[in-house]
Amino acid sequence: MDLVVKNGTVVTATEMFQADVGIEDGVVACLGQFDYPSGTPAIDAAGRLVMPGVIDAHVHLEDVGDNGTPTADDFASGTRAAAAGGTTTVIDFVSPAPGQSPAEAAALRRRQAESKAVVDYALHCCIPEAARFTAEEAARLLAEGISSVKLFTVYAGLALDTLSLYQIMLRAAEVGLTVSLHAETGEIVEHYRREFAAAGQKDPEYHAWSRPWFAELEAVQRALALNAAAGARLYFVHVTTRAALEAIARARREGQDVWAETCPHYLLFNESALRGPDGGRYIMSPPLRRAEDLAALWSGLAAEDIQVVATDHCPFPLATKVGRPFYEVPNGVGSIELNFNLMLSEGVLAPGAARLTPSRLAAVTSTNPARFFGLYPKKGHLAPGADADLIIVDPLKTRTVRAAELHGGEDHSIYEGLTLRGMVETTISRGEVIYDHGRVLGTPGRGRYVRRPVAGWDRAAGGTPV
Ligand SMILES: [Zn+2]
Repeated sequence: MDLVVKNGTVVTATEMFQADVGIEDGVVACLGQFDYPSGTPAIDAAGRLVMPGVIDAHVHLEDVGDNGTPTADDFASGTRAAAAGGTTTVIDFVSPAPGQSPAEAAALRRRQAESKAVVDYALHCCIPEAARFTAEEAARLLAEGISSVKLFTVYAGLALDTLSLYQIMLRAAEVGLTVSLHAETGEIVEHYRREFAAAGQKDPEYHAWSRPWFAELEAVQRALALNAAAGARLYFVHVTTRAALEAIARARREGQDVWAETCPHYLLFNESALRGPDGGRYIMSPPLRRAEDLAALWSGLAAEDIQVVATDHCPFPLATKVGRPFYEVPNGVGSIELNFNLMLSEGVLAPGAARLTPSRLAAVTSTNPARFFGLYPKKGHLAPGADADLIIVDPLKTRTVRAAELHGGEDHSIYEGLTLRGMVETTISRGEVIYDHGRVLGTPGRGRYVRRPVAGWDRAAGGTPV
């Protein structure tokens, strides 16, 4: 035995129980009460929760945003921050250049992360053009360990027309790749952006006006209609509105294999944040919504209509976010480090809230993304045989967020000053303590690339959410 985490309360997606966790060769060897040689390194987790390491299925590290603005985090700083927040696996994106083979782009992207990643990482692949997503390319992606494609209905250069969307869904269903979709109707968004710009309406609140709720709903409904015929496994990233959520839940009840993700910022802020003097800091897409949408997202998480919380982590320097017309502000905010703490505090521990049980928190932050994206049961699970990716959480501690104390590259935080209940004390990745009481111990390059098989298709092997 290399390490024992003893006396803690183990929280899985389905149960909570007192148990010791024995770790050997990077995997969980024993769980429960067992003997081990005296002198075995041990961490006393009495009074703490021991949970599966967080899987952040939606991050943009070392990327370029609107107007060519580089993101504030590269693979090193972003995964250092991830480790400090209890995240042990991130899934980032491959964005093939025009004319570039997706599989070739994927191999290059992997190399970019290789020497920098502190936690384990996997990749989704964006497909901006149906013609390039041949059966051969799909097979090559799978051979690279990439079992999900990311599609868009918005953004010049990425937006797919209806036929292309359908054709890619058909191909994905045929080879067993899953489809992630950013659902906002580009024509509507582009129209309003132009109109507001022409009318001199530049304030951040117009960002929300330019990306209305019905643009999300229209794209969601169109994708669901196409997928009713194509039959792919479909995952809507960052769902933000009650209307879209209801459409997705209905399709799910009717038998579509469709899942929904939301992000912490949509659960904590509403559109009024955009009206403050530094409203530009809150510019991300889709935009923040109304208070009633926020309530619907929390209910959806509890009712299992939303299966996954991920961050869409895409931070930019403060100077690029404020003092500009909304259409020149790069879209995206950072929460890779605070994600779990935000959900723990606001979902589980906030007095009177109790929106989520601890097990539901484990499901939406770890087990479900692992199941959908082919990482389960190696990851997203605390059981013998799984990777020893786990976090030790003190539910009684509180902290006040200070951007200056965070471990990533962002020079500000939309969560600045917020008091959070509970705290991740220790993060263990494949048996190695990579974060402990405020210090990141994991080194760049230790994170491994994780190949993701098409496990989701076999429901018995983990394709069903919990
Ligand atoms: Zn994103």
